[in-house]
Amino acid sequence: MTDATEDQVKRLLAAAVPATVREVCAKLAAAGHQAVAVGGAVRDALLGREAGDWDVATSATPHQVIALFRRTAPTGIEHGTVLVILGKDDASKIEVTTFRGEGAYSDARRPDHVRFGVPLVEDLQRRDLVVNAIAYDPINDQLIDPFGGREDIARRRLRAVGDPVARFTEDGLRVMRAMRFASQLEFDLDPETEAGIAAALPSLAKVSRERVSVELRKTLATRQPSRGLVIAKRTAILLSVLPELDARIDDPSEWASRVDRAIPRVRLGALLAPLADPEADPLHLDREVVNRVLVILRALKFSNLECDLAAQLVGIVHASRGSEWTPVQVRRLLSELDRDKRVPAIELWESDRTPNRALIEEARRVITEGHALAIKDLAITGKDLMTALDMAPGPSIGRILVLLLERVIEDPSLNDSKQLLQAAQRLELEVGHGA
Ligand code: ATP
Ligand code: MG
Repeated sequence: MTDATEDQVKRLLAAAVPATVREVCAKLAAAGHQAVAVGGAVRDALLGREAGDWDVATSATPHQVIALFRRTAPTGIEHGTVLVILGKDDASKIEVTTFRGEGAYSDARRPDHVRFGVPLVEDLQRRDLVVNAIAYDPINDQLIDPFGGREDIARRRLRAVGDPVARFTEDGLRVMRAMRFASQLEFDLDPETEAGIAAALPSLAKVSRERVSVELRKTLATRQPSRGLVIAKRTAILLSVLPELDARIDDPSEWASRVDRAIPRVRLGALLAPLADPEADPLHLDREVVNRVLVILRALKFSNLECDLAAQLVGIVHASRGSEWTPVQVRRLLSELDRDKRVPAIELWESDRTPNRALIEEARRVITEGHALAIKDLAITGKDLMTALDMAPGPSIGRILVLLLERVIEDPSLNDSKQLLQAAQRLELEVGHGA
């Protein structure tokens, strides 16, 4: 790289470094320590992307950092990280981490011991990818890029720092990060680095499922999840993390493009769509599939909200194979979903390669017109029933409400209290006698 380019890069970084980061580095430097901005924010600034959190790395020990600043919090002190608090907002809280080298990772999860007091290059050397191993010293306006990070950014490629097999095996999460960055940065994974993934899959299996799902979630939130997903499929990352799904994917590129086409909030459902049963009845939610997906996603420690949404989406994705939808059928189908899953279901159907317009349009109409799709939407409550029919509380109330809802789904014009109470009266005789 020529000097002119290096000057330009430094000017870019000097302008991008937030005042708070500069202030932290200046104070450390004035006390005789080395202090640099490093990691994701430096990478993103060089890419012209909005940088996330700026991280500072320093030669000062955690205790020296704590002594130097008025307010700090020992957020990750065992890893050498101290949070320096300059103000109230998040941008005024800077993570400062002591340069560290890493010992062996005998369990592939956490280093056996962290070594402090190493030079900056050694700290950069333990980082995962070359593009994440660039440091900038804002006080001395110095760029520290020992592995060619700027060149990788220019060539839009991801390479492991050093030997890919060794680096990926040390910490199995790194293969997930490589996949995620392929999507997030829209970079290509260097073939030699990709070839290092296979040997690291046993390490990936030992990584906590929380950390694995963080990477999946971040991949799904990018513009083109497919970039990472096809890598996950062909390197067997997917086989390691979601074996049941992996077995069901016939056409990886079609599977991954469906995820791209889906809007972000339904992407986890789109990802798992191949788990749907191709033989299932299109007219109904497939509860067996819902349960199967719940088990899979809970094991990966996705939140309850994420699990419930994705499970119902996969349980209903096959509906778009149905044809000739009547309004009653569409209302019944939507009534089988939780209220907050109905619009997402439509959004998932919209990501089909050939969307089922008849189903989508009718479903949109049902939602807009606000038809009753759940017992709560009925014009009468269980209490009304008990008063009007002089019934005691008990299971027959619930049974009558279910039957009333079924009628209202068939004919929405029945949803007024007078008609419902009349219908309930007749039902009470039937239900009462049947019970
Ligand atoms: P983003 O914050 O945009 O997700 P990032 O690159 O900043 O991406 P962080 O998890 O914030 O990622 O980590 C900050 C830096 O720490 C990375 O840029 C990288 O240098 C290093 N790093 C993070 N995780 C690992 C890991 N598992 N192995 C090696 N180095 C890592
Ligand atoms: Mg970061």
